[in-house]
Amino acid sequence: MARRNKIYEGKAKVLYEGPEPGTLVQYFKDDATANNAEKRDVVDGKGVLNNRLSEFFMTGLGNIGVPTHFIKRLNMREQLIRQVEVIPLEVIVRNYAAGSMAKRLGLEEGTRLPRPLVEYSYKEDALGDPLVPEEYILAFGWATQQDLDDILSLALRVNDFMSGVMHGVGIRLVDFKIEVGRLWDGDYMRLVVADEISPDSCRLWDVETGQKLDKDVFRRDLGNLTDAYTEVARRLGVIPANSAHPKPTLIN
Ligand code: UDP
Repeated sequence: MARRNKIYEGKAKVLYEGPEPGTLVQYFKDDATANNAEKRDVVDGKGVLNNRLSEFFMTGLGNIGVPTHFIKRLNMREQLIRQVEVIPLEVIVRNYAAGSMAKRLGLEEGTRLPRPLVEYSYKEDALGDPLVPEEYILAFGWATQQDLDDILSLALRVNDFMSGVMHGVGIRLVDFKIEVGRLWDGDYMRLVVADEISPDSCRLWDVETGQKLDKDVFRRDLGNLTDAYTEVARRLGVIPANSAHPKPTLIN
């Protein structure tokens, strides 16, 4: 069998050439990293869960008219996506103070913010993804003012959708990160949500107990990461309610 062409390997995913021009296959690994890859481990089953959860969120976004790069899930670990030019920014939306923001401003984690706040980090591992103001983004040409207006609108629509879906299953969406890509159609370009949306890139707290159901479980050694992600998937109906572990039920 011909080997697929690997385009790129990141910390949690691998991208392969897709079956048709303009498509890629996104493969979800079990690797978990934190603190800019200082802490790393293999978490059995994480890739399978993130593939399913990202499919769930991207499909839901598509259904309400928010464009994404997602085409379809192929199997347990792979999904077919559109090839986009990824804008080198991490777009972070925050509803409650946590993580780096809580530290930066001396706020207690969980403090509700006056309104959703959107901020940008420059995607460069070697620099630890530094926070950048819009002025830098414009000056260095990473995005135009029009792009930033569109990115803000995308980010807030994703936030409304994700907050609502999570609220419905008793989970608070504290913050999350998305990446945005340019999709070309001849000379016409539009911005779409790219990469993944999963508990790797969100902070998710149980509304009642405050229990963390996201990658902070790994970052802060709070327990079993697969159990936390399985709980999210179960509540959302992505895997059956009686499934203790994704493997036996997720054949495809
Ligand atoms: N985030 C991410 N990738 C990154 C940095 C942050 O997915 O490289 C997510 C993170 O999971 C959280 C949100 O973005 O949901 C805000 O993260 P923060 O800036 O607080 O950084 P952290 O405390 O995670 O270093």
